[in-house]
Amino acid sequence: MAILIVDDHEDNRSLLERRLARAGYETVSAASGEQALDILRERNIALTLLDIQMPGMSGLDVLEWLRERRNAVELPVIMVTADPSSPVMVSAFEKGANDYVTKPLDLAVLVARIRTQLALRDAVSSLRKSEERYALAARGSKDGLWDWDLTSDRLFLSERWKAVIGYEDDEIGTSPEEWFRRVHPDDLERLRGDLDAHLAAKTAHLENEHRIRRKDGSYRWMLSRGLAVWDSGGKAVRIAGSQTDVTVGKIADPLTGLANRLLFIDRVDRAISAGRKRRESMFAVVCLDVDRFKNINDSLGHAAGDLLLQELAARLRQTLRGEDVIMRHAGSEQGLVLSRLGGDEFAILLEGVRGAADAVRVADRITQTLREPVMLDGKEMFITVSAGIALSSEGYDRPEDVLRDADTAMYFAKENGRSRFAIFDAGMRTRAVTRLQMELDLRNAITRNEIELYYQPIVEIRDGEVSGFEALVRWRHPERGLIHPGEFIPLAEETGLIFPLGLVILEQACRTIKHWEGIGPAARAVTLHVNLSPKQLMTPASVEDIFRTLDGFNLRGGQYRLKVEITESTLLESSDLVESAIRRLEERGIGVSIDDFGTGYSSLGQLQRFQIETLKIDRSFVNGVTQDDKAGIVKTIIGLARHMGIAVIAEGVETQEQAEQVLALGCERAQGYYFSVPVNAVDAENLLRSKAASQCPAFALATNG
Ligand code: C2E
Ligand code: MG
Ligand code: MG
Repeated sequence: MAILIVDDHEDNRSLLERRLARAGYETVSAASGEQALDILRERNIALTLLDIQMPGMSGLDVLEWLRERRNAVELPVIMVTADPSSPVMVSAFEKGANDYVTKPLDLAVLVARIRTQLALRDAVSSLRKSEERYALAARGSKDGLWDWDLTSDRLFLSERWKAVIGYEDDEIGTSPEEWFRRVHPDDLERLRGDLDAHLAAKTAHLENEHRIRRKDGSYRWMLSRGLAVWDSGGKAVRIAGSQTDVTVGKIADPLTGLANRLLFIDRVDRAISAGRKRRESMFAVVCLDVDRFKNINDSLGHAAGDLLLQELAARLRQTLRGEDVIMRHAGSEQGLVLSRLGGDEFAILLEGVRGAADAVRVADRITQTLREPVMLDGKEMFITVSAGIALSSEGYDRPEDVLRDADTAMYFAKENGRSRFAIFDAGMRTRAVTRLQMELDLRNAITRNEIELYYQPIVEIRDGEVSGFEALVRWRHPERGLIHPGEFIPLAEETGLIFPLGLVILEQACRTIKHWEGIGPAARAVTLHVNLSPKQLMTPASVEDIFRTLDGFNLRGGQYRLKVEITESTLLESSDLVESAIRRLEERGIGVSIDDFGTGYSSLGQLQRFQIETLKIDRSFVNGVTQDDKAGIVKTIIGLARHMGIAVIAEGVETQEQAEQVLALGCERAQGYYFSVPVNAVDAENLLRSKAASQCPAFALATNG
């Protein structure tokens, strides 16, 4: 960009042209005001040197014309005058001249002034650009901006800051109270504390999350970040920063978009307060949990598990859409809150219910709708949920208590066979305490030798000959008598007691095998099946304990007669660990049976990865084996197992008819009350001795299991 020289004297012009060229500037000259205007119209000029006195159009005229079009920043003008003290010079400044030089010209001074003006112009224009950029950024970003001048105590809030909480730009002034009086009372103290800490330079920056009241009265969660400026005395003079609306992240579960635990608790809290004010207003909280979700997650992968949860959320939303009909304040959004509390646990707050019946109706509808199969991974899956209901009539003060009780009820529903719901009552709390007591008792039972094994024969259906036994644990409780595993194994698994318990069981089983070795060769051929909990195989330390126990008994005399049983679902859990544990068992000659086969989600194909010796067909199929459809399944299982070289045992044979039927379908071994209930160690030994003396069959055993 060139410098324009306007002077009516040829000599002056050429002198300036040469001098400025030497200083590195490009120049263009005009001999009159009129000519200067022409050049200014056509060319981009960086600075103008303007002679004040010219015939025709004077320097002031040119200046006036120019300032109407370009301001002092865009195009600096330096006047050239013989008399700087004249009133003409004053009016030149008034008209927007930037500077002047006097004739005769001191060229060094002139160049210095030109340089200063150009530098100033560049600085201002780049500042302006960055300001514009900043303003654009502020307008474009989702964040609001705030800038608090502490000296004048004025707070500048950007348009966006105001828009986020529902206000027009001119509706909010510049008092700091415009901010603070809109902050939720519960959050205000913390915000002020954080601000003070930063202003006192105790923190590197301000960062605070708080709720701000919108124009419509609702609250949004905001994240404010800021940075202060201090004067040389260390006094904060200004603090500025941004504000981001983080409400969605705060209250919504990212996976399902439902309310999260935080929001849910908040809403229950409000429902409690509302109930205090109006006695008749009642609410219910329903907790839902997907049955056996972990199995699904482990077998199909987390991505599929996530899809399932999303599908469930969608269904819940759908189901509940029509439900506010039952709510007193019908239509109001507050009447119903649907939330994912975490994992596979959902919760629903129902406000305005008239009583337990309303809540039950909703829970019932939910458990019904969720029963429809879900398509996952191209497979049809059947999902069930268990639900627990807590009613405000129990009299709650804290939302956490409501959730705890709904949760307790949900666990009762699960214990009672899943896919159902239960309403919380105070009795459950007592039972929960009983459960705790039982945990303590069980802990003691392990050290006090109250754990016993019973033995149920596994027989050849054709002739009733005993080929093995399954060891089934019993707890001889000092007061309650003999307790069956269904009552304490789940508890042991939940509490971790299964590890010491499992070892006690394994030791007893090994001891029994040792003992049987002494009975005779026929008894020696009999196998003993021991049940292992999935937990035991999934925990590396526990797997080591198992092998150490086996080592201790040195059962390596010939072939192992010890077998382990694991449920089908175990194969689906953390399969790498389980797979290697199974391989190590097989390497020692300890066969693995799959228990309760047919109840899990695995297919026979999945079994191929593992070295399985035996499949035990679940009692539920054997029970119905005299009906065509179940018979078909049993036949298929037997056929495929045989194809894969896996032996089968039918579990829970209770009648002669069932025994004959499974045999006809190709299963040669069975277990069940028809042959024998589980018997104690003495009876099992008697049975073996009689077998050793070839006194079969085992059909008429004592029934003291
Ligand atoms: P399971 O391994 O499938 O054992 C078979 C269960 O069915 C036993 O119940 C047995 O008494 C019962 N049963 C056998 N024949 C019949 C029949 O004809 N009809 C009917 N209705 N039931 C029959 P039990 O002893 O109550 O054991 C229940 C479950 O507890 C076992 O199922 C097993 O999963 C677990 N369990 C038992 N002992 C142990 C153990 O030592 N460790 C571990 N981890 N779990 C065990
Ligand atoms: Mg078993
Ligand atoms: Mg079984």
